[in-house]
Amino acid sequence: MIADEEGFLRPLVEEDACSGCALCEKTCPPLTGRASDKRANPNVFAGWHKDPEIRAKSSSGGAFSALAQSILADGGVVVGAAFSEKNEVAHICIEHPGDLDRLRRSKYVQSRIDGTFQATRTFLEQGRRVLFVGTPCQIAGLTSYLDDDPDTLFTVDFICHGVPSPELFRCYLEWLENRFGQSLDAFNFRDKRQGWQNVMASVRVGDGKQSLLKGPLNSYYHGFVAGVSLRPSCYECRHMNYPRPSDLTLGDFWGIGEVEPFPFPEQTTRGISLLLANSEKGDSLLHKAAPKLVLVERTREEAQRRNIHLQRPAKRPAARDTFYGKVAQSGFAGVETVLRLPLKRRAVQWVKENIHPDVVKRLRRMAR
Ligand SMILES: Cc1cc2nc3c(=O)[nH]c(=O)nc-3n(C[C@H](O)[C@H](O)[C@H](O)COP(=O)(O)OP(=O)(O)OC[C@H]3O[C@@H](n4cnc5c(N)ncnc54)[C@H](O)[C@@H]3O)c2cc1C
Repeated sequence: MIADEEGFLRPLVEEDACSGCALCEKTCPPLTGRASDKRANPNVFAGWHKDPEIRAKSSSGGAFSALAQSILADGGVVVGAAFSEKNEVAHICIEHPGDLDRLRRSKYVQSRIDGTFQATRTFLEQGRRVLFVGTPCQIAGLTSYLDDDPDTLFTVDFICHGVPSPELFRCYLEWLENRFGQSLDAFNFRDKRQGWQNVMASVRVGDGKQSLLKGPLNSYYHGFVAGVSLRPSCYECRHMNYPRPSDLTLGDFWGIGEVEPFPFPEQTTRGISLLLANSEKGDSLLHKAAPKLVLVERTREEAQRRNIHLQRPAKRPAARDTFYGKVAQSGFAGVETVLRLPLKRRAVQWVKENIHPDVVKRLRRMAR
């Protein structure tokens, strides 16, 4: 996999080394168009981890951690996306609960698969249970590569808005370092200090301080949400809908309680996971993790109401056509103004970032 001119990783065939077996073409999901054999009508749950600390450290309700803990407890392996020391995002394999935090939390950038497909095959051949987490297209790629769906492999994808390029993220971090005048030790896309629904990123800089990224400092995320920085294939994604490619799908349960009353409204500031059990293996994985989770059955209608990416991919905005050309020319500074929110949304964002959600709620109640 090598970076293209926009910095997205793409497969490149080394013609000199190619034996012409065409295995790459036979296993490439977009080329084979192989359909998933998972459920067209998955079982839907809302859920959250019973341990408040784990939940606070997770993007949504911490469902991933409960699934991973149940696999690791049985001597299995968990494969997912982690930050490297250089703040690059790549898939790694972990075998000990102490390493779980490296996989926790969403990283809104394309993750390098490196050798994890091959490693997964080796672990499965050794008879070990493997939990592999990735974007829907990564899961489709893995199952196609393995050409098998052994009982010991559990695949988990998530509702996916799409991925920006690793090069854009690198430029963004460089730009932030200039703004802070210090090197960045750690980046968190989902800092929940201002509540789950108020998605905010934060950085830890050289002096150990964890700073929330407000206003223009969070423009990478605003551009991601607006869909201006996604991989071209994300706008044509074929894995959004049902049947999903994985045994279990995770997401944020945005809009919980909007279709039918949700009996735990006090939980909505802490993070609620959406879980779709897409196969019997998905059911059994959930069953094993259930002692660590609170699970509430919900409907597909409610799951889809605010999670548009269970129905269709992100729309490609006109600004996408020139976006990466500007990045190549002038780095993140060249696109920072493109990524800025329109004036009206900037005002709403300011309130979200600077006034605690509980205060906003109280003011709304008083206004009524
Ligand atoms: C690029 C991206 C887009 C997303 N878009 C949406 C969306 O539109 N709607 C929605 O409801 N949810 C979306 N999610 C999922 C959501 O942000 C949470 O990751 C999910 O709900 C799981 O949360 P959790 O609390 O259970 O676990 P967490 O502890 O947050 O676990 C996150 C898991 O995702 C894996 N992961 C993180 N980053 C990547 C990556 N870049 N590539 C592959 N795997 C990764 C980690 O390995 C870990 O297993 C997206 C996630 C990503 C990474």
